[in-house]
Amino acid sequence: MNERMRGLGAKKSIIRELFEYAKTVRAEKGADSVFDFTIGNPSVGAPQAVADAMKHLIDTVPPEVLHGYTSAQGDPAVREAIASYIRDTFHAPAQADRIYMTVGAAAALSICFAAILNPGDEVIVPAPYFPEYKVFVETAGGVLRPILSLPGSMKPDIAAIGAAINERTRILLINSPNNPSGAVIDSESLTALCALLAEKSREFGHTIYLVGDEPYRELAYDGVEVPYLTNYYKNTLVCYSFSKSLSLAGERIGYVLLHPECENASDMYAAICGAGRALGYVCAPSMLQLMIPYCLGKTSDISIYAKNRQMLYEGLTSFGYECVKPEGAFYLFLKSPESDAYAFLERGKAHGLLFVPGDDFGYPGYVRIAYCVQNETIAKALPRFEALAKEYNL
Ligand code: PLP
Repeated sequence: MNERMRGLGAKKSIIRELFEYAKTVRAEKGADSVFDFTIGNPSVGAPQAVADAMKHLIDTVPPEVLHGYTSAQGDPAVREAIASYIRDTFHAPAQADRIYMTVGAAAALSICFAAILNPGDEVIVPAPYFPEYKVFVETAGGVLRPILSLPGSMKPDIAAIGAAINERTRILLINSPNNPSGAVIDSESLTALCALLAEKSREFGHTIYLVGDEPYRELAYDGVEVPYLTNYYKNTLVCYSFSKSLSLAGERIGYVLLHPECENASDMYAAICGAGRALGYVCAPSMLQLMIPYCLGKTSDISIYAKNRQMLYEGLTSFGYECVKPEGAFYLFLKSPESDAYAFLERGKAHGLLFVPGDDFGYPGYVRIAYCVQNETIAKALPRFEALAKEYNL
């Protein structure tokens, strides 16, 4: 047996552990005994457009087509619909024959890493970052190099990223809006990052790719804009997912989009198709693919998250906690009142509050609060956060 795989399967994530803990406490002490802010599973249902599209497909598409294989990279008409949506909405380069349909962003990321990396190649990622990146990068033979983001804003530390890029660097991986900080990389920072990649690619004599992980693209608040990456840098791959925008996390549908003018674009697209083949990620679920053209640009009711964000941010800061106001996604990254975030979690548990220590996201001293819950959960939990703040004399 493969020892690394055994280890990955045997070790429970902290989120899974806390989830089991919450179930046990609820069974013993009742529903309101514990407030679980650990999991990024959308609480808002998929929009009606999804069900309507599914019904329409069942009624109109012959079952052997609806449930049969598409081409390995995905249905051509679906890829054309996505490309034209991106061109029209973001005025950004996108082409159907440079899109590869996947089972969510997780598969899209794994495909990008397998397509680009050779053993020992490095991927730079601003921390805090989604913990699975390390698993995906290492499975592709690469090494993840986290660089701490700026504590005041949770924006990438561009100077530190520049200093970390070396002859082994092949990818800068960015996630905006960010899980777990909610930070959005603005146009100015993105321009600076892309200039850096271009300069370092020249210096080291090979391409450094920009890989964007964008499952939260539509979840941005107060009119914050999330710049579209192919408008900024040609050696770009975008990993997108409908898991969060349409609340379809369990359906597993997303894609990789390669910039049409990427260097050696047709070879790179072949590598993406090859990686999909090697990993067994061919033909993403057909019915979900065919649903996409009917739902592009639609989202589930994100006003619920927007309200939660406001309630939580205002409540927590008024109690004396410190955090950067999240601009997007559905997470708030709170500074732990003591340096050990695990100790803070233990004291939170005593108040029936569960959240995830930042250590797991490469950023110790903070905790992630997932606010993709019902509004009333936030309302009921806030007095407990207040009591917890008092214990720390905040
Ligand atoms: N990337 C980030 C930052 C995420 O938060 C998640 C899921 O929570 C994923 C990727 C994986 O998304 P998917 O469900 O599309 O595989």
